[in-house]
Amino acid sequence: MVKKEIISAAKLKKELEDAKAELASRNKKLKLSVKAQPKKKEAKKKMKEAKKKIEAKKKEAKKKIEAKKKEEEAKKKEEEAKRTYEEELEEQLTEDEIKNFAIDKTDMDKLVNKVTEMIASYATKGILQNILWRKLKLSSRDGSRLALKLEKLGNITREKILENGRWTYLLLIKKIPISTISIENAPCLVCPVEGKCSTDGEISPKTCVYIEDWVLTELKTKKRHETN
Ligand code: SF4
Repeated sequence: MVKKEIISAAKLKKELEDAKAELASRNKKLKLSVKAQPKKKEAKKKMKEAKKKIEAKKKEAKKKIEAKKKEEEAKKKEEEAKRTYEEELEEQLTEDEIKNFAIDKTDMDKLVNKVTEMIASYATKGILQNILWRKLKLSSRDGSRLALKLEKLGNITREKILENGRWTYLLLIKKIPISTISIENAPCLVCPVEGKCSTDGEISPKTCVYIEDWVLTELKTKKRHETN
């Protein structure tokens, strides 16, 4: 009987110890799980932040693309604004069409000489084409075609410039129409090196300052007579 009781007490003690051990194990697990909670929260927070950063980067990239698009559009508009009516004409017309341009009921040879002389009178300063067309009472349509014709004939050069926010051309003399000028007072008539002067030589009318001065003086005199 006593032996039975001793066995039962030992069993009870063992059960109690087992229960304690299980409780301790559960506690430990619980503690670990509680400890893990903040880590999970931290990871969640970090993920949220990373997502936010990605979104911000996406927005930034989108903004950059839009800005570049706008910049390209503005550039395109600027290029279009730079394009002149004359550039369009040059694209549309053939060289012959430009050279053979004529205004109705107008002696074109006479007009070409007159305009070339007028441009020559402005020497290296040149003249803005719209001012010249106004003086000649020419429409800008005819004036633009005439300027192209003069350039193709080799009489003038055109310099594209920005004037009051608009692109236009400065017309500069290239070849002075000597044939229209009187040779009276020409420096060649009394020139001591006239014998050595030739178009291809070292001494040449192409580089001669005397003849250049004389032509310009003649043109100015002619212009004065025309306006009087
Ligand atoms: S072009 Fe000049 S260098 Fe030649 S002959 Fe005339 S003035 Fe003399």
